[in-house]
Amino acid sequence: MANDLFNSFMTGPDETGRFGKFGGRFVSETLMPLILSLEDEYEKAKTDDSFWAEMNDLWTNYVGRPSPMYFAERLTAHLGGAQIYMKRDELNHTGAHKINNVLGQIILARRMGKTRIIAETGAGQHGVATATVCAKFGLKCVVYMGAHDVERQAPNVFRMRLLGAEVIPVTSGRGTLKDAMNDALRDWVTNVRDTFYCIGTVAGPHPYPAMVRDFQAIIGKEAKAQLEEQIGRLPDTLIAAIGGGSNAMGLFFPFLDDKEVEIIGVEAGGKGVNAKMEHCASLTGGRPGVLHGNRTYLLQDDDGQILEGFSISAGLDYPGIGPEHAWLHEIGRAKYVAITDAEALEAFQLCCEQEGIIPALEPSHALAHVMKIAPDLPKDHVICMNMCGRGDKDIFTVAKALGFEMNTGA
Ligand SMILES: *Cc1c(COP(=O)(O)O)cnc(C)c1O
Repeated sequence: MANDLFNSFMTGPDETGRFGKFGGRFVSETLMPLILSLEDEYEKAKTDDSFWAEMNDLWTNYVGRPSPMYFAERLTAHLGGAQIYMKRDELNHTGAHKINNVLGQIILARRMGKTRIIAETGAGQHGVATATVCAKFGLKCVVYMGAHDVERQAPNVFRMRLLGAEVIPVTSGRGTLKDAMNDALRDWVTNVRDTFYCIGTVAGPHPYPAMVRDFQAIIGKEAKAQLEEQIGRLPDTLIAAIGGGSNAMGLFFPFLDDKEVEIIGVEAGGKGVNAKMEHCASLTGGRPGVLHGNRTYLLQDDDGQILEGFSISAGLDYPGIGPEHAWLHEIGRAKYVAITDAEALEAFQLCCEQEGIIPALEPSHALAHVMKIAPDLPKDHVICMNMCGRGDKDIFTVAKALGFEMNTGA
């Protein structure tokens, strides 16, 4: 069924995995055969109806798709301009969009006869989604996580362990997400025979950015059909938050050829896009380089050292951005803006009060940009934003930022 997604778009990548001058496959020679066999398997799966039948069955009965398209009536009235629609991917099993992609990669892994799944995770969301699907299929799961993040994200570490995953704290380098990615790649080379590397965003060497995008494109595909049904036309503007860029790419991809649809990606501006780099806005405040097997915009210092970045939202702390976004930025098809912690916090609260939805801090960034532009747009202008995660995980962070004392029962 989903084959219709694959031929109609202007977008890349070309056969070497490049989106313009971004993307590609910057990996060691030892990794090359693994990457090529993965690419081969994915190319086969793309046009295999039985692969998509299995995906659709699990999307429906395990994840809970399709996620609703919701008209945020009170928020729209409150802002007094454009109509605001929310794609409710926070209602998925595990509370965010990550599982859309994990299911695809793990079904692929099973087809390749792999029995051990490895992943890297920063805030822990991708690790939890991977551990979840591995439990469902009885696969061994190993998650690499920066030692610093293991401490900061204790609830997610415990979730992964409950789900049967082994969490390995990474102390090499600076013990951050970047180091966890390196260790996962090293593990892969050493355990070629039985291991599959499950990447959580539209990054990594080709074919990962395109493959993860294709799995997440279910978001935009549903959104297009739902808006057609509800308003009888395309939206005027799409808005989504960007860490590595997978929920955004998933929403945007099926609309790339619809030139009249404006596309806006929202990066984490942290304390402001400043010289001290206290933000995670790779496109707005970074420059091109190579990380995680692809060329893209990265947060780096003058010597090319990758920086950790800073954001109130742990899920937006990827030090780069998917290469396809770098390319869409370069050709001007999508626009990228940054939202600060303070602005995201305000949007978080407004969404709770106006809509009875506690959003994750990541989509609160997207919503903050909606709040900026909606009031000045005409009332027949339709904005569709991706509500890509729910906020249960963030209430302690928000309480602290707002100065609430909370007894956590610990
Ligand atoms: C992981 C995560 C993100 C960031 O990842 P993308 O690949 O940019 O989508 C954003 N929102 C939520 C809720 C997440 O869990």
